[in-house]
Amino acid sequence: MKTKTYETVIVGGGVIGCSIAFQLAKRETSVLLLEKERIASQASSAAAGMLGAQAELMESRTLFELARTSRSLFPVVSAELKELSGIDIGLVRKGLLRIALTAEEADRLRKHISCQQSLGEQAEWLTARQALEMEPELSPNVLGAMYIPDDGQVVASDLTNAFARSAVALGAEIQEFADVEHLVVEKETVVGIKTKDGIIPCNQVVVAAGVGTESLLKPNGLHVPVYPVKGECYSVKTSKPLLEKTIYTDGCYLVPKRYGEIVVGATVKKHACDRKVTLGGISSLMQQAERLLPSIMQAEWNRAWSGMRPQTPHDLPYLGEHPRCKGLFIAAGHYRNGILLSPITGIIMADLVEGKTPRWDISAFAIPETVHSYTGV
Ligand SMILES: Cc1cc2nc3c(=O)[nH]c(=O)nc-3n(C[C@H](O)[C@H](O)[C@H](O)COP(=O)(O)OP(=O)(O)OC[C@H]3O[C@@H](n4cnc5c(N)ncnc54)[C@H](O)[C@@H]3O)c2cc1C
Repeated sequence: MKTKTYETVIVGGGVIGCSIAFQLAKRETSVLLLEKERIASQASSAAAGMLGAQAELMESRTLFELARTSRSLFPVVSAELKELSGIDIGLVRKGLLRIALTAEEADRLRKHISCQQSLGEQAEWLTARQALEMEPELSPNVLGAMYIPDDGQVVASDLTNAFARSAVALGAEIQEFADVEHLVVEKETVVGIKTKDGIIPCNQVVVAAGVGTESLLKPNGLHVPVYPVKGECYSVKTSKPLLEKTIYTDGCYLVPKRYGEIVVGATVKKHACDRKVTLGGISSLMQQAERLLPSIMQAEWNRAWSGMRPQTPHDLPYLGEHPRCKGLFIAAGHYRNGILLSPITGIIMADLVEGKTPRWDISAFAIPETVHSYTGV
């Protein structure tokens, strides 16, 4: 039987791969997405789902531009995905308080507020009293807060599954438990991918394999460094809501979700590849959560989990075509902001695959030239 040829094969069924599949399917190109486990089984289901374009205080102006544009796409994306997939992604736009617990943090946040206001974003400084009026369960020890009305949140795994199902509704194909072993490259041009079941021919490949990106490309002699930064989280349930807005500090955040759940995250451990949830990690989060919201200690335990954020050495995601391999596109390394950046990443990558120039400047996200010895598989 002749193997079907696809225009584009996407490797990785996290939020990034699924968003790209959705955008390509909207453009009526033939697309196959391969995921080695289940859709949203890695970082994209561990995420707290914050759309923290302003809360994250990004160093890179270009990344900040993408982040705020991506955040603005969510209302339309939410409605589109609901219609196509039936999944409600849980978009909540009730804002975020970035808390200052020390005088230095207060100074730093005030500077960020004026910077963000000069860029046309909404942000304002709240005194401790004003912050407590807004969120009465907050600790009286807070010194003040940066109030960001436009930083919302979604349910990360629902968003990922909604992208996937919507892509399928528009004609994309998805295969789970399909582990891609390597790319098939001829004359520095990608011509297919290899799984244990054989070779699937295609014209383009988009690698969106999160922390698996580096090892996937290694057999082809391509060196695209992405390393894991493990994060642990837990959640509690309360019968009456303790919070309306997301509460965010450097070491800990509290995200109020549907059905009385509050997600508390997240630890940060570079290069840790295991998904164990440790007592040390959870107890340090509990202490920080109590400092912010003392009444959380009366809440009922719900669950704990961990995931690996895909990070790059230059702290920016890769978005582009590989300089040494025609037809190989990479979208990986979204670190702490893959959920937030997923809508815009989908559009940018679909533009690139179609040979169009994206509307946004993505030169800062180019793929590095470095190669291992080229094997040409
Ligand atoms: C604890 C935690 C909290 C977070 N909170 C937030 C947040 O609040 N807001 C936010 O915006 N972001 C957040 N993030 C970051 C966000 O989760 C990631 O940036 C995002 O999920 C990355 O998506 P991805 O699709 O690139 O990677 P992944 O979700 O990891 O998906 C990659 C997929 O590729 C598959 N794969 C790998 N290799 C292969 C192969 N060879 N063949 C086939 N498939 C393969 C994997 O199985 C995986 O499913 C958080 C992350 C963590 C860990």
